[in-house]
Amino acid sequence: MPGKSRHFGWIWAGGLALVLGLAACDQGTDEQASAPAEAPEIGAPAEDAGPADVVKAQDPGLIIDSSYITAATQIDGNRVQAADDEPHNWLAHGRTYSEQRYSPLDEINDTNVGGLGLAWSYDTGTIRGLEASPIVVDGIMFATGTWSKVYALNAKTGEELWTFDPKVPGEWARYACCDVVNRGVAVWKGRVYVASLDGRLFALDAATGNVVWQVDTIDRKTPYTITGAPRIINGNVIIGNGGAEYGVRGYITAYDAETGNQNWRFFTVPGDPEKPVEHPELEAAMKTWSTGGTEHKWWEVGGGGTAWDSMAYDPELNLIYVGTGNGAPWNRWVRSPGGGDNLYLSSILALNPDTGRMAWSYQTTPGDNWDYTATQHMILAELEIDGAARKVIMQAPKNGFFYVLDRETGELISADAYAKVTWAKGIDMETGRPIENEDLSYKDEAQAVFPGPGGAHNWYPMAFNPNTGLVYIPMHDQDFIYNNDPDYQFTEGEWNTGNSFSTFVEVYEGLGLDITAQQGTGRLKAWDPVVKQEVWTKDHVTVVNGGLLTTAGNLVFQGSGDGQFFAFNAQSGETLWSVNTKTGIIAPPVTYAVDGEQYIAVMAGWGGGGAATTFDPKLAHHEYGNDGRMLVFKLGGDPDVPQPDNYRPEIPEPPAQEASAEAIADGKKHYHRHCAVCHGLLAVGPYEIPDLRYSDPSMYDAYEDIVLEGILKDTGMASFADALDAEDVANVKAYIISEAWTYYDKQEDAKKAE
Ligand code: CA
Repeated sequence: MPGKSRHFGWIWAGGLALVLGLAACDQGTDEQASAPAEAPEIGAPAEDAGPADVVKAQDPGLIIDSSYITAATQIDGNRVQAADDEPHNWLAHGRTYSEQRYSPLDEINDTNVGGLGLAWSYDTGTIRGLEASPIVVDGIMFATGTWSKVYALNAKTGEELWTFDPKVPGEWARYACCDVVNRGVAVWKGRVYVASLDGRLFALDAATGNVVWQVDTIDRKTPYTITGAPRIINGNVIIGNGGAEYGVRGYITAYDAETGNQNWRFFTVPGDPEKPVEHPELEAAMKTWSTGGTEHKWWEVGGGGTAWDSMAYDPELNLIYVGTGNGAPWNRWVRSPGGGDNLYLSSILALNPDTGRMAWSYQTTPGDNWDYTATQHMILAELEIDGAARKVIMQAPKNGFFYVLDRETGELISADAYAKVTWAKGIDMETGRPIENEDLSYKDEAQAVFPGPGGAHNWYPMAFNPNTGLVYIPMHDQDFIYNNDPDYQFTEGEWNTGNSFSTFVEVYEGLGLDITAQQGTGRLKAWDPVVKQEVWTKDHVTVVNGGLLTTAGNLVFQGSGDGQFFAFNAQSGETLWSVNTKTGIIAPPVTYAVDGEQYIAVMAGWGGGGAATTFDPKLAHHEYGNDGRMLVFKLGGDPDVPQPDNYRPEIPEPPAQEASAEAIADGKKHYHRHCAVCHGLLAVGPYEIPDLRYSDPSMYDAYEDIVLEGILKDTGMASFADALDAEDVANVKAYIISEAWTYYDKQEDAKKAE
């Protein structure tokens, strides 16, 4: 049913799409059903979420009762370090502290993977993005879904043991750049740890889901969000946060796993220069930021540098590695007008996990100007380079270069483009700094640059297979039009990039580019980190696809945006198996075994950054909807995955257009400044958030109540009364009605033609 209207192509998918993410996105039809009737105001302290449902399920084959769960979940550092002694489990986020996402299990392998089928599925009842890596221990699975909800499941049967809902205020979605996602829990000594979208950290009783303690990790007046999975090192729960697009100051905090007491906090960027620095590492950082004598105060905007996803840990060196994010705003000419590298943006930090003191740092993108985060997945491995065994850390951050560093010293070993890169001509190995392409500076005029803010690789986890020696990268080639905003002013609670989005369409057309002709390509790339080049590449039909798992069975598993779930030969890249799950996949798979039988699990539910503004016509949700599910496969399972029952409806006849052309044009501008990041460019919405053209006619009468009065705030649609007035809203409505008529007419014509 999506007609030509859906074929906008890559500028959207690659440009604004991945870039804008789902900023300020309301939650649409993914009802926050358990949200309190009176959600707290943003800024008010969160209420205690209270007890979870009690354990209610028992599998006759494996008696999973409270005492069993408590005993099974006694995970500690020694156990994670010896994870290969219990290969049937997935004990930590990347299975091991090295975060290789490699499993020694090989019952499912390159000779028999064709016999894989569905063992069980669990319906999360959600239709937005699912990104979690489940933790699996002795037959119990812990995963997270939208709104930071936790699911404890019987890993053999899918039976629900308990669920936990932190009751995130729906309107907090306005502060989430990239969907209301969560990337998973940590399990430690009988407890499950999860961080909520609105910045709280919970310790739950693993047996029951009851809250043992919770702490607030943020200042509730500041638009922080947490989507990342906590890591637990030496008894410290370590968690960062996100929000750089809105203007926050990044930090990472360690809490005592037992008590929730704060042990240390590391700020990734300096604060007010008039005040003493919070820790010594900020003295060096302070020298790399400058107001240039202007009125701009980066510390009031926040500076960014949020550590919202990746960490890895080396127990021998006792160093935890943390990736930091982009600058706030993106545009360095308004962020730090006096220039400078702006430490520690876009960096890999090596910290002592007990004290928070920094051993070394490496900045991938000094003076970041493009939203080039270095929060992407980091992998620790031992590689033989030039005849010497090296303990390395590897990362493919957004900026398009694949980095190999000595993880003891931070020495740069190699940095080579793994994607199409035009912002820099390479990395100077003498200085370790990129050689920027001055021809593509967007200071004075808009420029199309590779990669875009969606990165050549975003958070989707990579995998490293020690048998093949290859790193597998879920990446995409995409560009973006960066456009210095001459009128930029900081706006609280909104996107602050220093780039102009409200005139995006005009800029694109002004550059003589054909919007509909632009296409990006999603790829799975096998990269040899020693030879420093790709070994094989698989192109996907969709641009944004899932994270990775590799196994001793010589396999790489990956889901795609069109709902396929693949097994590839890890050595050659040959496609050995695939199944149409009928739900787009972005999450990384994991594997485990129960009673000696190996399973492959993946969460299906497309979304995340860019979902709202990606017009990729091949995405599964155009045909099947986006019902979130945990899908678990085994040899001899059902070869078909049942079809979810959500379908996209038809566009109902819109109300008559009564507004002037000027009003519609004004509404288009407001829409693209405030609404498009969630509801879609040119009013073509994603599945996961209401496509406004499909609104029931009665909704048009409620625009003011929704947008200004906030009557749907509990479902995720906050009030925008601070940004829009009644006339603006009327004009936005006129613009939506205009677009709805265009598409309604096409729909009706198509029906007549059938
Ligand atoms: Ca960002």
